Amino acid sequence: MAGTRLRDSFGRAITDLRISVTDRCNYKCVYCRTGNEGAQYTELPIADYVRMVRILVSLGIEKVRLTGGEPLLRSGLTEMVSALAEMRTAYRHDGSPIGPREAGQPLDLALTTNGHLLESLAAPLQAAGLNRVTVSMDAVDPEIFARITRVPRSFERVLAGVHAAQAAGLGPVKINCVLLRGFNDSQIEPFAEFSRREGVIVRFIEFMPLEEDRTWKPETVVPMDEILARLNAWRPSCGVPAGLVELPAHAASETARRFTFADGVGEIGVIAPVSRPFCGHCSRVRITSDGSVRTCLFSQSDQDLYGEMLRGGTDEQLAAYLRRVVLKKEARHHIGEPGFLKPSRNMVHIGG
Ligand code: SAM
Repeated sequence: MAGTRLRDSFGRAITDLRISVTDRCNYKCVYCRTGNEGAQYTELPIADYVRMVRILVSLGIEKVRLTGGEPLLRSGLTEMVSALAEMRTAYRHDGSPIGPREAGQPLDLALTTNGHLLESLAAPLQAAGLNRVTVSMDAVDPEIFARITRVPRSFERVLAGVHAAQAAGLGPVKINCVLLRGFNDSQIEPFAEFSRREGVIVRFIEFMPLEEDRTWKPETVVPMDEILARLNAWRPSCGVPAGLVELPAHAASETARRFTFADGVGEIGVIAPVSRPFCGHCSRVRITSDGSVRTCLFSQSDQDLYGEMLRGGTDEQLAAYLRRVVLKKEARHHIGEPGFLKPSRNMVHIGG
């Protein structure tokens, strides 16, 4: 399937795939789900996800993030990681295809999880070939944490999962925290302390209009500038002077601005899709648990890749289909603009 690597109509190379392996979730985070609805979409056999990834890798995908729903609920996940770990990239950094007798690089394999089941799964997933894990935690205060997840004693479970991931060699563990004004914005400074104490990268994410309930309001978003002002004024407890120190970006497509403190201990990232959209550098495409392609979190419709597979599409036909779909990738999202339309699916049913 040699040819040029996958690009959209704006020239953005598509190198990053997020694939949801189940629509089920064991948490009911208040800003994400209503708490009354369960899974709404089906899940596919693992072999079908693996085939989709293989075709996308042949087109230029280099990073794969497994997500959900809650991916650790999915049986066959470890086998899926093993199959993905066998794959090799198909293009060089300069965009030229890697020939049949040359070896590409292993994929960058990551997982986003709520961490509830991570304590026992971290080691087998690492052994299967997983490189990195991001754990979603929206508070470090156990009571606030349980109020958000609506699961008692969830904080202790997730913290044990973070420790297991570190012990298994899946570090540095990233912690994603979505801030909502008046709900968990008291946690900004405690999370900075947590990053320093636990050796994790904490990333604050602006709340986007992707929830099942229609609760999003611009006033609920805690914007990047406010987060940085609070952290700049904060003094770490061990005599280190206040003030963030900015770290360089790893890549142009990096979504987070990164910071540490004067002594270099701890790392904080801020991802600001609302106040500082980064769509111009977007390198992502998503596959939902039922096998649809989404070219943007805010797409108004899905593209039915699985339907093409069921109709007997060959790998070449599916690759051609994916090229056509990616050509229609949206230029950017329109959060906060007049006439903004909520996307056709919510975050939990897309795969964050
Ligand atoms: N269950 C896994 C987890 O908790 O990480 C994966 C799926 S979850 C939908 C993925 C991420 O999306 C989580 O970090 C969650 O906090 C984030 N998320 C959910 N709704 C969001 C929203 N409206 N705005 C920003 N992030 C959101």
